[in-house]
Amino acid sequence: MDDIPIEKIVRSRRRSIALVITPDGHLIVRAPLKTPVALIHAFVKEKHGWIEKTVGKMKQRPAATEHAYEEGETFFYLGRVYPLHIVESGNSPIERTDRLCVCRSLLSDIRHRLKCWYMQEAQREIHARCMWFSMTTGYTPKSIRITDARQRWGSCTSTGGLNFSWRLIQAPLEIVDYVIVHELVHLKQPDHSKKFWAKVKEIMPDYERRKEWLRENERLLRI
Ligand SMILES: [Zn+2]
Repeated sequence: MDDIPIEKIVRSRRRSIALVITPDGHLIVRAPLKTPVALIHAFVKEKHGWIEKTVGKMKQRPAATEHAYEEGETFFYLGRVYPLHIVESGNSPIERTDRLCVCRSLLSDIRHRLKCWYMQEAQREIHARCMWFSMTTGYTPKSIRITDARQRWGSCTSTGGLNFSWRLIQAPLEIVDYVIVHELVHLKQPDHSKKFWAKVKEIMPDYERRKEWLRENERLLRI
């Protein structure tokens, strides 16, 4: 078997070499600042079996969604599937019934308009869920913002604000809730230490199942 090429080497102030397989099956190496390239290649060679297995797993996951924005094409909203339906005119330019109804006049700009709609919906839903968990946990973010992030579902700023990607609103509510709890706990515990996961588990005992769902299905949500 051929070696899988290294897509990128990311150097930082870390202590050990780590391998990351991206959702589309590329190999990224994280390495300490001064690690010789030969050592990195030796490490990759040694982990050949693991890399191959992991790349294989990634390829079995659902493929990324490419939209042509045609009638009947499906879109996700809070884990449910909505077929796109083009209407001649409606009460509002985009309306979610049992379908996702979009006025024909928006067609030329539909990608952007749908994204704006998702952002608006995400703002309302994620904000409400975040306030709910903030109330039950006592962790209060300074701000809640919806972003256009592609790679991260949520993040926590150094000033105590939380960011969530609008893409998250496509996932089932229980997955949205997991990402919210994860980021809320980061307000008190910025790392991914044992202490962090113990706190997440205390708030959400079945978080592992939800975390796994996100890992398995994230490509579905990359519109
Ligand atoms: Zn985290």
